[in-house]
Amino acid sequence: MDEVLRSDEAAVLAAEYGRASVTDAVRAELQSLRMKLGQGRFLDGEFESALGSLAASLRRRLESGTEPSLRRVINAAGVLIHTNLGRAPLAREAAEQAATVATAYSNLEFDLTEGQRGRRDDHAQRLFEQLFAREGLAETSTLVVNNNAAAVFLALAAMAEGGEVVVSRGELVEIGGSFRIPEIMARSGASLCEVGTTNRTRIEDYERAIGERTRLLLRVHRSNFEIVGFTDSPTLGQLVELGQRRGIPVLEDLGSGALARLDEFGVSGEPTVQDSLRAGVSLVTYSGDKLLGGPQAGLITGEPGCVARLRQHPLFRTLRVDKMCYAALEATLAAYLREDYDALPLLRMMRTPAESVRARCQALLPSAAGLRAEVVATETMIGGGAAPGKSLPSFALALSCEAIGATKLALRLRQQKVPVVARIKDDWLLLDLRTVDPEDDAYLAQTLAGIIPG
Ligand SMILES: *Cc1c(COP(=O)(O)O)cnc(C)c1O
Repeated sequence: MDEVLRSDEAAVLAAEYGRASVTDAVRAELQSLRMKLGQGRFLDGEFESALGSLAASLRRRLESGTEPSLRRVINAAGVLIHTNLGRAPLAREAAEQAATVATAYSNLEFDLTEGQRGRRDDHAQRLFEQLFAREGLAETSTLVVNNNAAAVFLALAAMAEGGEVVVSRGELVEIGGSFRIPEIMARSGASLCEVGTTNRTRIEDYERAIGERTRLLLRVHRSNFEIVGFTDSPTLGQLVELGQRRGIPVLEDLGSGALARLDEFGVSGEPTVQDSLRAGVSLVTYSGDKLLGGPQAGLITGEPGCVARLRQHPLFRTLRVDKMCYAALEATLAAYLREDYDALPLLRMMRTPAESVRARCQALLPSAAGLRAEVVATETMIGGGAAPGKSLPSFALALSCEAIGATKLALRLRQQKVPVVARIKDDWLLLDLRTVDPEDDAYLAQTLAGIIPG
């Protein structure tokens, strides 16, 4: 052990990885050699050659040991907002602004005019206000918390603790990853008053349920499923009208939170945050990293009086976000204000014509010469608890291989230096290129060319 640590190779490695890491690696490597030796697993000369390549083995061990576990991947799975793959990719300037602010001091809670303590939530607020004012929605405030689940939790706690919240049975939803409306409600200290049935709830059902203890009418966007057939539910406008008549605020959990009308991006009928505000809800909550295309965050926009109640609630302090989140959010909002939708990767990918996706698939065909490969029409799901059942026409490179099968092929792609995530359909492996940055096409070509050795 000491002999190895005193070697020149160890010194080189120590300069790169630190002495303690090299000591750990040497110990682990020697232990593994000793074990193999004890088990008689070395053939003639193999032990000597393993000793000879000790430095290389140590380097490999140190490299893989310090590799971050969280890495960039290529999403070819055909889902635009993929929660397992980190949802929306940030705009470049959003990531850069986050890096600028993160690597220095900032005026996070400092008023530069007064030279004294300021409020962190003033930052994004100003840009949200501008964006909404542009559509005639003058009087709004916006609060930023850690995610939309936190936004709903805070809103329920601040507005309805100890009281009742009226919600339709058709909206008692679970959003992937254990966000269940009834459970969130119980924890917030508000009690649930269910009205209507799974498929039909009328405005009269809400009206009848209103009593002494009613604090809030809640509307939840059914973001990951649709109820079709014999259905009925009041419009948001009707709910707001009822609330105003009876003096009860309306909270809408919108979930996806589009800030721009997505029809021109090929996604029709997806409600925007502005739609909710225009309908007159007191508060609307939405995610920062779904259709908005920003960092993970929960946004709560609405009447300044209601938002102020949330800000004053002790829970707000536990749910607040850091400077990188504000920085990325502000840069994202600035792109909306400039109407520079191509700066936002999500909207840019939505807007890409299917024909150009097809051309890119076609261009990759020759690289997949070792496999059976075809270009096939497919649909890119919007996903991520947004726009239920909605998709965009797209094209995919379909691959199959007699020798190893689709499952194994998928595994090999996931084991690449930059892992590629694809999806399997009927023994074919589909690589939908709509969600792949065109700059990654060359890497894909190189990967496909080498995927079947020999
Ligand atoms: C996605 C979603 C949530 C949860 O949002 P997170 O940002 O993941 O916390 C809550 N409600 C609805 C309707 C959603 O779509």
